[in-house]
Amino acid sequence: MFIKNVNIFLLVPSLSILLLAGILGALWIINKDQRFLLWLCSSYALVAIPLGFQSYATIEELNRYALPSGVLYLSSAWFLSMSFTERRQVPSQPQLASLIGVFTLSVLVYYSSIEPNIWARLQSFSFGAGLILLLPIKSAFKKEQPKDWINQTLLYSYIFFSIFSIIRPVLIPFFGFKNIGDFSKSIYWLVTAMSIVFFALLFTTLICSIAIREMLDQLRNERDHDSLTKILNRRSFQEAAQRRVKDKRLYPIALLAGDLDHFKYVNDTWGHGCGDQILQLVSSTLQRNIRANDLVARFGGEEFVLLLTRIDLSSAEQVAERIRFEINSDKSVLPEGSKITISFGIVPITGPSHLESALKEADELLYNAKNAGRDRVHIAGKIYPDIDLRPMQEAKN
Ligand code: GH3
Ligand code: MG
Ligand code: MG
Repeated sequence: MFIKNVNIFLLVPSLSILLLAGILGALWIINKDQRFLLWLCSSYALVAIPLGFQSYATIEELNRYALPSGVLYLSSAWFLSMSFTERRQVPSQPQLASLIGVFTLSVLVYYSSIEPNIWARLQSFSFGAGLILLLPIKSAFKKEQPKDWINQTLLYSYIFFSIFSIIRPVLIPFFGFKNIGDFSKSIYWLVTAMSIVFFALLFTTLICSIAIREMLDQLRNERDHDSLTKILNRRSFQEAAQRRVKDKRLYPIALLAGDLDHFKYVNDTWGHGCGDQILQLVSSTLQRNIRANDLVARFGGEEFVLLLTRIDLSSAEQVAERIRFEINSDKSVLPEGSKITISFGIVPITGPSHLESALKEADELLYNAKNAGRDRVHIAGKIYPDIDLRPMQEAKN
């Protein structure tokens, strides 16, 4: 009975790590873009096997299975380092890692088959695994350091774990521990298993918080942006614009409503794919022409709205004319002899409560510009003699 209990207790570290691997694997399945979750999951799954085996193995079995255990531990170290490099976006060094791996395994074979020596094996193996873990550190430090505490803690705990892996066997003699005896009950084994479980738990907590935070950011980003053009959608524009118009320092503010001319014809003539390309081109042209604090959004179909801050009406008109010119001059989408045109209506925003009606006013001016012949900019307060009012009258009736 007593023996049975001890046996189950010995399995706790490896089962805990397998459980953490399961959590990471499940998170990776939810968001396959976060491949660092998969690497960490693989690292844990690989380390759990020798950890469980070594908890029960006799010294003879440890000698016999030194090579496969070493392969699993070193692969686990490699996957942990892959998870780190993927997360920090630094290069992994597979050739160097393989070299360290092969060298370490040769030493393991020597000290298990030719001259069995468990201490020498532990030292060389821990050193090899630690070196593999340390490989990406130099390039990680060359990169800009993370600003948030979770990523910083991840970086420093990874470095600490790598160094600890190297020095762990060196520390054993300081425990006053001379004979390895029953390996699974040795202090060395206890320190090893507990440190692996502790760091696995720490890495999982940090990585899972990072992964969940990034997933939420991604969802928010998808909710706020148009999927085709990646600019703001109507809802998020209105939210952001409400904040801008409340800030007195951003005045004068101008609102621009733009609509591509005869876009239905473009789709019908050159296809929907070509139409989509034009929408992307127009969006990037609009984004190129705005400054910090300005907003650009796709309001639906081929309608765009811009909120320009710290700008008077005539400068806003110049911006619209520049955009119109750039779109007209583009040669990348439509065949020679055809051009993309856009019409604009521009109004000033007079105060925080004016946003909604300013959107309607800009729309009316845009409608005027369309009726005046399209491919033009109409601004509030200017008289445009060339407006053909008939279609407007018809629409109203
Ligand atoms: P006007 O000059 O008066 O604005 O004419 P128009 O043809 O541009 O306007 P209309 O509202 O008649 O047609 C808009 C077209 O925009 C119809 C629709 O198929 C197209 N459209 C809307 N959304 C998309 C999209 O996401 N991709 C593509 N390719 N076309 C779209
Ligand atoms: Mg249109
Ligand atoms: Mg339209």
